[in-house]
Amino acid sequence: MAKETHTLHILGEEIPLGTSKIINFNIAKLYTSTKVEIPVIIERSKKIGPTILITAGIHGDEINGVEVVRQIIAKKINKPAKGSIICIPVLNVFGFLNMNRFFPDGRDLNRVFPGTKNGSLASRFAYQFINEILPVADFCLDFHTGGASRFNAAHVRVDPKNKKLMALAKIFNAPFTLLSKNLDGSYRATCAKKEKDILLFEGGKSQNSSKEIAREGVQGTMRILHHLDMLHANFEVPVRESDTLIIKKSFWIRAKYSGLLHIKIDIGKHVEKDETLATITDPYGKMRHVVKATNEGYVINVNESPIVYKGDAIFHITKELADE
Ligand SMILES: [Zn+2]
Repeated sequence: MAKETHTLHILGEEIPLGTSKIINFNIAKLYTSTKVEIPVIIERSKKIGPTILITAGIHGDEINGVEVVRQIIAKKINKPAKGSIICIPVLNVFGFLNMNRFFPDGRDLNRVFPGTKNGSLASRFAYQFINEILPVADFCLDFHTGGASRFNAAHVRVDPKNKKLMALAKIFNAPFTLLSKNLDGSYRATCAKKEKDILLFEGGKSQNSSKEIAREGVQGTMRILHHLDMLHANFEVPVRESDTLIIKKSFWIRAKYSGLLHIKIDIGKHVEKDETLATITDPYGKMRHVVKATNEGYVINVNESPIVYKGDAIFHITKELADE
């Protein structure tokens, strides 16, 4: 990967080796004329090396991802032994202010990449990001959570066709690695088109923060940095007891009834076929439906909503794991 350079040109500024710098990325003001600044936190070692771009908060309500990047900065993991680390803890500041997934124009930022110069606000933002920040990156890490009340077990998503990313996902070593195609309009799809390596981390749920999920995100990042010889010698490389489970196929169990949902199992747990996963009841103490696993597998997402409608996705379960 290493496109090793002495000077780093980003957002119209030139950042020399061995410097720390925060640049504010401005794209639009709030309608109160209040400035919206998106801090871009840059750390460069004196030694040349690759440039890593670490982002979160493309979806403004995905706080757990923001927390991962915050910890990376607060613990000074972003001060590299060589090369450069750029952290953007909150990309969609507009959504973050309102604890909302979307941009103020109602668009999902992660569906408008690579963006257009004169499009919607979200599209313009994506365009600026792709053209003014992404070009300097050799490798990207992007942190997300499950949407609404769906809690994801910590996992990394990679396109199975990309062998190099598969190898990096194994080094990251989240509890699970999900083989999944790139979604049209996503940041990940644009990275793939531009041949930028990216690992997308998913863990926890929106409007929520879990210490365990944050730990998986931070420790995986440290393993990647160590692999690239960028982790500072002050840190020990965190070890996970087991290797990431690679998921080839998975599926959603949906609610057969509307009602109150009562979860009976833990996220990340292995379940047997016909094991009880939850019950769905009416509010009147009459109806009680038992939700059972339709096959054995690991539960990688649990809908933690107290109420569901018939057809709502409630459990994401693995169907086939890769042997490696
Ligand atoms: Zn997201």
